Amino acid sequence: MNLARESIELLEQVARILWFEGTKHGLRDREWMALRFLSRANRFSRTPSALASYVGTTRGTASFIIGELERLGYLERKRSAKDKRSVMLSVTQPGKKFLARDPVNVLVEAIAVLDDEAKIRFRDALRHVLDQSDAAEQRHHTDVCKRCIFLREDRTAADGKTTVEFSCRLFRAPIAEPEVDLLCTSFEHHRQ
Ligand code: SF4
Repeated sequence: MNLARESIELLEQVARILWFEGTKHGLRDREWMALRFLSRANRFSRTPSALASYVGTTRGTASFIIGELERLGYLERKRSAKDKRSVMLSVTQPGKKFLARDPVNVLVEAIAVLDDEAKIRFRDALRHVLDQSDAAEQRHHTDVCKRCIFLREDRTAADGKTTVEFSCRLFRAPIAEPEVDLLCTSFEHHRQ
């Protein structure tokens, strides 16, 4: 058996947990995907257009998903203080609590019991697959700042202590340390 093909067959079956007919705990698969993404996205990606790009849908369908999650009290939208035309989406406390019922938690729990080395190998193998398919299809997947080509790190040493400040060269904005591990749809990985 070709190991690469066998892996893809297994991924197809894992995908059945992600994509399903009807609803689970009242949400469709794309609504779960949107809620999950917005709970992990950085401030540049918590917008209707970034959500549409992540879910792989039109702006119209993304608006429908946002409206549904708002109606249920899991999401709120706020006008940006800088640009009144742009909207920032935030998962509410009830939305964060509701994510405990996310259908993908069964997968998260199955991976969580692996030892640390196996978890790292599994994550890195999936990243490798995405990085390679990005190059083949001339697109970029969503990932975290700390792997992005646009992240800039400035280190300063004073009084025996080193401090690190992060910024984004694409958005020309500072990035706080906790944001480095958040998802961004404008991510671009380093090409070898
Ligand atoms: S550094 Fe990259 S991932 Fe981070 S905000 Fe900028 S474009 Fe997005």
